[in-house]
Amino acid sequence: MSTAAAPYLARRTFAIISHPDAGKTTLTEKLLLSGGAIRAAGQVRARGERRRARSDWMKIEQERGISVSSSVMTFERRGIIYNLLDTPGHEDFSEDTYRTLTAVDAAIMVIDAAKGIETQTRKLFEVCRLRDIPIITFVNKIDREGRHALEILDEIQEALALDVAPMTWPVGMGSDFFGVYDWKKNLFCTSNGERGGPYTQARPVSGLDDPILVDTVFDRILAELAENVELGAEGYAAFDRESFLEGHLTPVFFGSALRDYGVEDLLDFIAEHAPAPHAQPATGGRVIAPDEADVTGFVFKVQANMDPKHRDRIAFVRLCSGTFRRGMKLKHVRAGKTIAVSAPIFFFAEEREIAEEAYPGDVIGVPNHGQLRVGDTLTEGEEIHVTGLPAFAPEVLRRVRLSDTMRVKQMRQGLEDLAEEGLVQIFKPDLGSNWIVGVVGMLQLDVVIDRIKNEYATEIGFETVPYTTARWIECDDPLKLQKFIEANRMSVALDRDDKPVFLFKSTWEVNYVGEKNPDIRFRETREIV
Ligand code: GDP
Repeated sequence: MSTAAAPYLARRTFAIISHPDAGKTTLTEKLLLSGGAIRAAGQVRARGERRRARSDWMKIEQERGISVSSSVMTFERRGIIYNLLDTPGHEDFSEDTYRTLTAVDAAIMVIDAAKGIETQTRKLFEVCRLRDIPIITFVNKIDREGRHALEILDEIQEALALDVAPMTWPVGMGSDFFGVYDWKKNLFCTSNGERGGPYTQARPVSGLDDPILVDTVFDRILAELAENVELGAEGYAAFDRESFLEGHLTPVFFGSALRDYGVEDLLDFIAEHAPAPHAQPATGGRVIAPDEADVTGFVFKVQANMDPKHRDRIAFVRLCSGTFRRGMKLKHVRAGKTIAVSAPIFFFAEEREIAEEAYPGDVIGVPNHGQLRVGDTLTEGEEIHVTGLPAFAPEVLRRVRLSDTMRVKQMRQGLEDLAEEGLVQIFKPDLGSNWIVGVVGMLQLDVVIDRIKNEYATEIGFETVPYTTARWIECDDPLKLQKFIEANRMSVALDRDDKPVFLFKSTWEVNYVGEKNPDIRFRETREIV
């Protein structure tokens, strides 16, 4: 890569999507290992400075008691900066995952070779498709017995309505696993001898009749490989970058994260073909291009301080344009205020550092006292909001029960804070009674009880409500909307931004009320800003 090229062109910001247990954690570790998890030269100018920067951060961390899990992992490999954004594995936190996907330019979809496409994979895939995020498929665990390679390719093609382009082929699976064959580069990726052992070498071969293959691999496995290669050339799409970038085609790599097969293929592929930071849509039809001079960025995640004595949080900001420098004053558009970003943080696999400079595609952590929340936009003055961060209709609704009524204030503060983090949604019923919280999964409720207790010294519980789902209500005619709300006061609540929400008792009711009120829109998602 030319040194004159804009730094953002060397950024690759991506996430891994998968069903639990497919191997996301293992693959993440292996990607970090392959990348050496080291920061770019130039970013960290000298070792001394690096040490100072690190201790600066540690001081802040100690003073403020902030503890941040590895939500972003940045590493450099061969001149490319990879920003891997972690998505929570548990299905109950999928909302967080969806938002994180608004901050990436590509995704790796990990599939278990024995299980194929699973429910969570499909859901997350749909989110990527909605946003036209290019997907790279990694068929994992081929060192175990799995489905036939062609069967897996067909399943991806059919289940996701996507062209598949096989990039590599497994050489046997399970007890007959010899390695991976790269049919484009004519490489046999294999172990150092022992069959099925960890990947150690990519051996150049002249073709499938090369003695290296013929002498090591069982005849029937080689015959199957030959058949796959032949069918693969005829029956599937050839890799086409344009089609991949548009989200119509997914390149498929076979591998074993556990035994290191296919991991470097992914990094090489991302470096060569995955997109550099994309242009970001914003309000007023504005599209923020990464090569614009002024800095813009948006918060896609907020993480609270783990120390109950402090109220500090980290807002994860994805930069969309400009060159960010430490100490910059940025406009916090929603609040109409200017904030000085004096201690921005870069996240690496095992450490954090003060970010002196950052480019589009990079993610910086901005410590704050709760001003910044998910969906917020930071600019050098322009009055725009980045669009496309959804809030989802909750699937679980509960009324908050407070045993000590003297602590209403603390409870409300706590719930509002957690809502700002994006952990829960709050709905304030029009008619007096206690707030209702909405979550996407039950596990979130336990987290809320726990955190309100530890961080706000307030014991709360939840009781069931007759409602099963909620929809944001909108209407082009404000008068009509007002009339509708008044006629349905028992069922209408306001969300944390005072947007009206209709609480429904059943999906039947959603349809019924919808049909009766054709002028009102009942939305399952709403843009956060
Ligand atoms: P996650 O839930 O998607 O993060 O999955 P993990 O990375 O935790 O993996 C789930 C299980 O599958 C663990 O026991 C891993 O050791 C195992 N696993 C992951 N990758 C492979 C692989 O390539 N081959 C085999 N045999 N096991 C694997």
